[in-house]
Amino acid sequence: MAEAPLPTAPDPASESTETRSDIVHLVRILSVAAALALFFFAWRNAYVTADPPWFGTVMAAFGGILVANLLLHLLTGNLAQLRWGFIATITAVLIFVALSGVEQGSGVMWLYVYPPVVFYISSPRFGVISCVAGWLTLVVALTPLGRLLFSVAEYPLPFRLVLATSLAFVMVFSYLLDRARRQHAERLRQMAEIFEHAATHDALTNLANRREGTDRLAREFARFQRSGTPFSVILVDIDHFKTINDTLGHDVGDQVIQAIAMRLTSGCRKMDSVIRWGGEEFLVILPGTTESDAISTGQRIRQRIIEQPVTADGRPLEVTCSFGIAEIGPADAIQTLLQRADERLYHAKTTGRNRIISRRFGQGSDGR
Ligand code: GH3
Ligand code: MG
Ligand code: MG
Repeated sequence: MAEAPLPTAPDPASESTETRSDIVHLVRILSVAAALALFFFAWRNAYVTADPPWFGTVMAAFGGILVANLLLHLLTGNLAQLRWGFIATITAVLIFVALSGVEQGSGVMWLYVYPPVVFYISSPRFGVISCVAGWLTLVVALTPLGRLLFSVAEYPLPFRLVLATSLAFVMVFSYLLDRARRQHAERLRQMAEIFEHAATHDALTNLANRREGTDRLAREFARFQRSGTPFSVILVDIDHFKTINDTLGHDVGDQVIQAIAMRLTSGCRKMDSVIRWGGEEFLVILPGTTESDAISTGQRIRQRIIEQPVTADGRPLEVTCSFGIAEIGPADAIQTLLQRADERLYHAKTTGRNRIISRRFGQGSDGR
């Protein structure tokens, strides 16, 4: 937590949780809808057309596979099985209805359903591969050789030409629309991440800001109430900062704030939070830390600030900080804990600055 990471470029192949749950819902609905359609054609074949007689049985079998795939998913919660089971089944159904020329050759119209569905519920890579492979198979199947090989239904030549070209258009546009959809979703996600970072971090130091710090304090306090895990806070304030601003300028003041932020961060553990609490004031939250361990951290940071002098415009400056330390107690609220740390910081200021005040060091001790 000490070092706030900047938003990184997300993996475009990864699916967000929202997208995944959208896909689960869609594939469940599509499975039910497709199974109902297949059972309808099975019924129609059995009681109305009976041409060819085996067609209804095949449709009912595919419908049964879709229902079984859905039920298995509802039992196991496995998304991959639902998704790939559905894609494999509808691929088989569509190849079958297109090549067999059932329902007076109208089954081939179902091929137009495939590109948008497969791009939406699978990956762009799988969508392209399956569409290209499907289209090439269809083109071969529509030639006299294909009719010989696959015993495909006889379609008139203009119909075959329009079918192949219009299906290619639908496939290309399904790909383009799906790519635009994924890119926009990705851009939105990145923007949300940037805004989230801006709302919770300080622009000058990239540390967590006061709002984020307040949330982290509340989370730590809740953990303390739940499990009794102690934590401590250190309030750190740069000494005589106004003088730096007044004599060297506001820009140098900014550089000093940045340098102190870096020394605070490097002096803490990864799990600690360094927060820009106010202008030249910082709050450090030390989870799972008693007051005596917090004093060690304070001493390490204070030493670091002294040993690594802040330089501004190439000149070393003498910058020191004062520290007020407090550990959470059973009777504490967040406000009383902060108040205690603030009183100790004030005490450090009034007794000479560049010192650490905690309960253990007692009133008037310099804690060096
Ligand atoms: P003390 O030792 O008692 O803490 O005195 P101080 O001069 O450090 O404290 P004071 O509160 O008098 O002054 C703090 C100054 O910090 C006043 C304010 O203008 C300045 N300040 C606050 N935020 C920033 C900032 O982001 N950049 C710069 N350069 N100055 C800031
Ligand atoms: Mg100050
Ligand atoms: Mg101050």
